[in-house]
Amino acid sequence: SRGFYIGRFQPYHNGHQSVLERIACFADEIVIGVGSAQVSHTVANPFTAGERVLMLTRSLADLDCPFYVIPIEDVQRNALWVAHVRAMTPPFDTVYSSNPLVMQLFAEAGVDVQSPDMYERLTHSGTVIRQRMLDGEPWEHLVPPAVVDVIREIHGVERLQRIAGSD
Ligand code: ATP
Ligand code: MG
Repeated sequence: SRGFYIGRFQPYHNGHQSVLERIACFADEIVIGVGSAQVSHTVANPFTAGERVLMLTRSLADLDCPFYVIPIEDVQRNALWVAHVRAMTPPFDTVYSSNPLVMQLFAEAGVDVQSPDMYERLTHSGTVIRQRMLDGEPWEHLVPPAVVDVIREIHGVERLQRIAGSD
């Protein structure tokens, strides 16, 4: 079977990694969607789709399950979103998500939806990690080492702090 997992991954963190490591045990292959792919350089979405692909691909290098990382742009009609996702991805039979809208849209389309348990959600959240970057607080322990490398390489923290400034 092929599983599907989607997030914005702004940035990819240890909560996501924990879910993907668990999914790897029951799927033969995993399709990972990088959502809101067209958005970057904003306070809520600082990283490009390409940078997020790099974070995921490097962090999952040792996963013992083949995976595909596929950027997916937003569409302005939720009713058409599942078809849009399907047009961009290898066929999958199970969706792993705890996002209520994602779960609802796939359930309505007749797709099997499973909700993995959250991993230390209070600290392991993109919103919390971006705020820590803005505040100059430690965030590196919340993401895989490969993500620390990517964010250093692209000067991601400096980017986020600059775009959060006012003119
Ligand atoms: P943001 O705060 O920017 O929304 P996020 O941490 O929720 O970031 P997303 O990219 O929105 O990350 O999430 C992708 C998927 O990962 C969502 O289905 C979300 O519920 C799930 N997820 C997020 N954090 C965790 C976690 N700590 N453990 C398990 N799943 C998580
Ligand atoms: Mg979220």
